[in-house]
Amino acid sequence: MIYLDNAATTPVRREALEAAWPWLSSDFGNPSSKHELGLRAHDALEKSRERVAKFFNARSSEITFTSGGTEGANLAIIGLALANPRGKHLISAKTEHEAVLAAIDFLERQHGFEVSWLPVDGEGRINPADLSESLRADSTLVSLMYANNEIGIVHPIAELAEITHQVGALFHTDAVQAVGWLDCNIKTLGIDALSFSGHKVGAPKGSGAVFIKARFAVEPLLHGGGQEFERRSGTENVAWAVALSTALDLLENSTAEFKRVEKLSKKFIDDVLTKVPMAKLSGPTHNRLANIIGFTFAGLNGETILLELERRGIICSSGSACAAGSDEPSHVLIALGYDPDLAQTAVRFSLGHFTTEADLDQAVAALVDSVT
Ligand code: PLP
Repeated sequence: MIYLDNAATTPVRREALEAAWPWLSSDFGNPSSKHELGLRAHDALEKSRERVAKFFNARSSEITFTSGGTEGANLAIIGLALANPRGKHLISAKTEHEAVLAAIDFLERQHGFEVSWLPVDGEGRINPADLSESLRADSTLVSLMYANNEIGIVHPIAELAEITHQVGALFHTDAVQAVGWLDCNIKTLGIDALSFSGHKVGAPKGSGAVFIKARFAVEPLLHGGGQEFERRSGTENVAWAVALSTALDLLENSTAEFKRVEKLSKKFIDDVLTKVPMAKLSGPTHNRLANIIGFTFAGLNGETILLELERRGIICSSGSACAAGSDEPSHVLIALGYDPDLAQTAVRFSLGHFTTEADLDQAVAALVDSVT
């Protein structure tokens, strides 16, 4: 099997699980307990928090462990918007992940927020001038993803955050697909909040964290014992925090890895476009994540291509796994202006840290075989 669906999830790194095991077995204490086992668990949790904070160049007190990207985005968006009521105006884009779209929808429906949706061009780009124009004196929060999970476009986050700050609004980025591939130094990016997920980077599903600047108030989603600096109540998942910090430590130097995968990806795109006449790359050719490659295949059926590829041992997907079960065309491609029929032909290949050139050569051969 050749696994090319790494944007959906990744295998857990052995080191991450091994590091987690003692905190599930011998050292199983509750980090809030005052006895020896509890103190040890507390120490492990805080050391993990420090390692995660170091990865993002943040302070430990700015890292809240969560169950993943969805919870992190919800906490950042809803938590910041409700606790910092400059006004009730939000800005985002329709190409965001459902985690962001649905959190914004909740604020609109239940709390009377008004939303401005930034337009995107046919390749998914946001024009920073459109953000400047949409910002108002009552804008509370802007949420724009670092890199798109279906077409791989990378948005100029530092520039967008700077524009946002000119009116004093806050900036959150969903960095679920960016971590491990792009520079996630929050100081360079100049952002107020960043959410990410463990299971995209070799940590278990159900792990993740969100960075939210310490000086901002956050209205929690979960109410209870006040753990995680009053930002997320509930007994902390020490083992998954340890696994997450270990997985982040294992991420190779992002720049070198980005270059390696970029080379593989360029060849893969060229090969597919040359050998499959109806294939068209979705999203831009530049400013894109190297590991996420979406194509449309005009006149064919995306689901059939996936099945044919799977029969030949190639695992990939039609787009966001998080909208699984739905046979609606991708909301991202629709936002880019694609005809729904063409959007139905989409196939996404997402490479991982273990993908090799030989894997991709086999995938191209299987694709040619599947569509001819
Ligand atoms: N944001 C993006 C861009 C994603 O790709 C995903 C998952 O695919 C999420 C958020 C949700 O993350 P999680 O599965 O950890 O809840």
